[in-house]
Amino acid sequence: MERTYIMVKPDGVQRKLTGEIIRRFENRGLTLVALKMLTPKRETAEKHYAVHAERPFYGELVDFVTSGPVVAMVWEGKDIVKITRAMIGATKPTEALPGTIRGDFTADMMSNLIHGSDAPEAAEDEIALWFGEGEL
Ligand code: UDP
Ligand code: MG
Repeated sequence: MERTYIMVKPDGVQRKLTGEIIRRFENRGLTLVALKMLTPKRETAEKHYAVHAERPFYGELVDFVTSGPVVAMVWEGKDIVKITRAMIGATKPTEALPGTIRGDFTADMMSNLIHGSDAPEAAEDEIALWFGEGEL
């Protein structure tokens, strides 16, 4: 079964939207298979966003995601990556549609509440980065 890595970012935890986000996924019938709260280490955040290392926002992004507790999760189901990405909404605030998590709760490009893997291969790497063997 396909899995994805979902993370409520520090702004989502601070705004008390963790429950809202989990509720939306559970209401959809998706399956939560692992969950933990932690403040990310800089090294983990840098690896997680390594694909963006050359982008101008990279330093600020790593600062942001390590600024406080996040809720790290693994969700499972058929086509889970595409389904959760659709529910999360677009990265650009102008393209994040109402009804999506970002489209309903944020208009900021960086503080956008939630991360979701963008492909099954990326999901496998991210799950291995954030969760140890015994945690799944
Ligand atoms: N981001 C940003 N400015 C940009 C693009 C991205 O601050 O121009 C931040 C934003 O928090 C986003 C994260 O970097 O969620 C990762 O970017 P990506 O393009 O992978 O977006 P996502 O997959 O989260 O939709
Ligand atoms: Mg991404």
